[in-house]
Amino acid sequence: MSERKKELEIYIHIPFCVKKCKYCDFLSGPGDEDTKAQYIEALCCEIQEKSNRYRQYEVTSIFFGGGTPTAVEAKMLCRVLAVVKERFDVKTDAEITIEMNPGTVKKEALILYKKAGVNRVSLGLQSIHNEELQRLGRIHTYEQFLETYEQVRAVGFENVNIDLMSALPGQDMESYKKSLERVTQLIPPPEHISAYSLIIEEGTPFYEKYEQGKLDLPVEEVEREMYHLTKVYLKEQGYERYEISNYAKPDRECVHNIGYWQRKNYVGFGIGAASLIENERFSNGEDLQEYLENPCDCEINHQCLSVEEQMEEYMFLGLRMCQGVSIKGFYQSFGSTLNQVYGQVMEKHIKNGLLEQKEGWIRLTEAGMDVSNYVMADFLEPDI
Ligand code: SF4
Repeated sequence: MSERKKELEIYIHIPFCVKKCKYCDFLSGPGDEDTKAQYIEALCCEIQEKSNRYRQYEVTSIFFGGGTPTAVEAKMLCRVLAVVKERFDVKTDAEITIEMNPGTVKKEALILYKKAGVNRVSLGLQSIHNEELQRLGRIHTYEQFLETYEQVRAVGFENVNIDLMSALPGQDMESYKKSLERVTQLIPPPEHISAYSLIIEEGTPFYEKYEQGKLDLPVEEVEREMYHLTKVYLKEQGYERYEISNYAKPDRECVHNIGYWQRKNYVGFGIGAASLIENERFSNGEDLQEYLENPCDCEINHQCLSVEEQMEEYMFLGLRMCQGVSIKGFYQSFGSTLNQVYGQVMEKHIKNGLLEQKEGWIRLTEAGMDVSNYVMADFLEPDI
């Protein structure tokens, strides 16, 4: 009998965007057509060359992220996907996602993606209010989003995520609520919603404005209210919260992201892409020119994680998910019980109502989710 292959996830980074949003610190920016074509060549080369290392794995998910993957021509993305399928053992039911922004995708492109095997679409909407979108520096309007959404459905995509943001400049409870309402009232409604609070990142135009006191952000209390509204409202609409910021209809959780939180093996291709393979973390360098010249030799920061580091990751990534971490899974991974390693921390947070133990799992309570960073920080130092 042949041995079962290990699971692997693949992330492909496309660093191009039409224009940089004012809050964004991702590795992304505008690129000319020639650079995009060279980048795709380099990506295909990297994937082909490195695939030999991953013969003993089968691929359970592929995720095109960015940047805006759809800022490059559809046929180019499809070529990359074809190379992955040719060189890797991709499961027939693998989840294959492309992130796209309204205003960068046409029906013909969607048809090509569908034919190529893409089965999940993630749309960056952020807000249904054009003035909020404009303030963020987004390139699209709500009307353009609606057009894209309709086309995505018309082409037959049945698994769609929409990204929304709260705590935006000039946003109030009423406008945020409207965004939530309109998105959940789409026909058909999206299967998945990612709802994040805006974070002001250093080095962005928003950061500068914030430092000068010129960014009209909602006060902390309102931000908390938005966070609570998201939980309550989406639940009423049939979305199960399965991670701090992610909500899904039954069985529509994002397989790829769950893999990250469960520390499954994943390999990233393209500039800046990170990988975790058998407890070794590494990533590609971020310099575009260097990557174009030498895409197969750009890995940096190789780090073999110690057992303590693996345990820490197991806890702080696993606790992001509402199901929490499996007590049995921890023992199977490390040969020590959770109690032996984190007994004191767990006792403290169970006592103060931020953690709970149920049916073989340890998870954050509702109150614990609200202060998740505080609880998770405590797991960064094992008791042993
Ligand atoms: S579209 Fe996304 S990746 Fe591109 S600049 Fe805007 S936020 Fe950043």
